[in-house]
Amino acid sequence: MRYERISEHPSTLADILVGRAVEQPTRVGYTFLDAHGHREVEDYALLLNRVLDLATRLQKVSAPGDRILLLCPPGLEMVHAFFACLLTRRIAVPLYVPTSQRHSDTVAAIAHDSRAVAVIAPRSAAPVARELFDRPDEQIIDSAATESGGSLDVLDTPLPSENEVAHLQYTSGSTGCPKGVVVRHRNLMHNLESVRRGFGHTEHSSAVHWLPPSHDMGLILGILSPLFVGYPVTLMSPLTFLRDPLIWLRAISETANTTAGGPNLAFGICAERVSSADAAQLDLSRWDVAFVGAEPVNPLVLHKFADKFSVSGFRRASFFPGYGLAEATLFVSGGPVGAGLRTRAFSSEELEQNLLVEKPGDRELVDLGPVRAGAAAVVDPKTLRRALPERVGEIWLCGESVTAGYWNKPEESARTFSARIAGEGATPYLRTGDLGFLADGHLFVCGRLKEVMIINGRNLFPQDIEWSIESAHPRIRRGGCAALSIEVNGEERLIVVQELDEETAAGDVTALEESIRSAVSRDHAVSLYRVIFVGKGEVLKTTSGKIRRSHLRRLYAAELESSAI
Ligand code: ATP
Ligand code: MG
Repeated sequence: MRYERISEHPSTLADILVGRAVEQPTRVGYTFLDAHGHREVEDYALLLNRVLDLATRLQKVSAPGDRILLLCPPGLEMVHAFFACLLTRRIAVPLYVPTSQRHSDTVAAIAHDSRAVAVIAPRSAAPVARELFDRPDEQIIDSAATESGGSLDVLDTPLPSENEVAHLQYTSGSTGCPKGVVVRHRNLMHNLESVRRGFGHTEHSSAVHWLPPSHDMGLILGILSPLFVGYPVTLMSPLTFLRDPLIWLRAISETANTTAGGPNLAFGICAERVSSADAAQLDLSRWDVAFVGAEPVNPLVLHKFADKFSVSGFRRASFFPGYGLAEATLFVSGGPVGAGLRTRAFSSEELEQNLLVEKPGDRELVDLGPVRAGAAAVVDPKTLRRALPERVGEIWLCGESVTAGYWNKPEESARTFSARIAGEGATPYLRTGDLGFLADGHLFVCGRLKEVMIINGRNLFPQDIEWSIESAHPRIRRGGCAALSIEVNGEERLIVVQELDEETAAGDVTALEESIRSAVSRDHAVSLYRVIFVGKGEVLKTTSGKIRRSHLRRLYAAELESSAI
């Protein structure tokens, strides 16, 4: 019997997938909720069947170790495609169907960088796949299930071992081009176990996710953690959430012991766009883990959310701020469950000099919980020595969740993944590129090293400036603002690029500019060199919604330089 190999101690997710299909065939694993409220429900037996179907076709056109692009929209087919790769020891490259030229260019660059040999895509995306990926038609595999179904023969070939590569997780590309992080099965298993413990998941948990499955957070929390622990998940497209956030909240309202969350902005969108009457119809009292991460956490936004949805029974204690990155598989720190949003206030003046001095009422930083996956060190990025406890430094990580490096980039991998703390043993560390500190064992993140703006000898972080601007005027678009520092005549100067809707842009923007300037000057005691108003969509973002500040900085530096001539 082919299922004999199921062990009590599964070493990879492939073992778990087969195990669940045998032991809990009728238990619902995945449900996809579309924009019209239609649900497609799948139990573990059906899941394995569909995975085997794809795996059988995948085996015909590729070999173990080959990279396979998953050009699938969010949905069950993405789930099948990912697991078909795992089961057959192909290296999955989770992506999305590009809908704009810019996204097509990114996908084409990833196709090239990963040297993928085949694509799994729905029939509707086959023309796009053909265009991006110059391969014979048989290497473009239809993600839909076939009539004939799967063959159990797939299970006669060896399942992956824990040291093999499971997938390439391309980073968001916030600071440059997306890089392919090489995630091994053992990294996945370690991180999934850290998520299980950190989020307090059991088989009685449930989850509702709209996060894009092509990114680490959507893939791990949305697709892999539910299978690992064995709890049901409802998935939906980010587009459905953006069109109507109430659909996500209603789905949460219908489940118990729920985990659901996203970046800060998602909570802001819900607070702004859901009416009080609709909020009153929801029951959010059983939402246990409202995780928030992926970007700096803004306490004001979370307070607004909690105020709006207290009528729905939402508990502030459910907030679960966390931190993670693809290079460490995903999850690094968070929680504890039930602790809610906790902040500590520091003197902003000292913080701008990388010094930590607690000062009530001043700059609030969010507690991102204890480190759950591996261990963290805070290191002076210049001397590479461990930073003193009262100083901000770069966050370095070690442990089993730290991945194997960047695909095809040996030098960058060595620099980022094999750092050594000066004066301490030979333990290799991952340099996260994020600045922060540990206080009583809990992690705090100030921002990215690459994005620090040094203005008049003070270290400023763009998000702090952007958050002040967002509440400066009612016509300012949330998430449509980028603060950048640009060198002008040998001096770093602060500029702001702000998106406006057409109606606002057509009117007189003098008052708006004045509110922006005075908010920044009031909150940060710094004057703006320029305020540049642009149209919707011009503050460039990654597909996970993060502002591409480095790219914008280059763009506007060139523009300012040419306009000065
Ligand atoms: P790229 O590496 O391509 O520039 P990226 O860093 O945005 O893109 P991800 O791995 O998706 O790619 O995101 C991880 C990064 O997100 C972290 O390194 C950190 O900068 C930021 N981040 C995640 N969680 C938090 C948080 N709670 N607070 C502040 N920043 C966070
Ligand atoms: Mg990064």
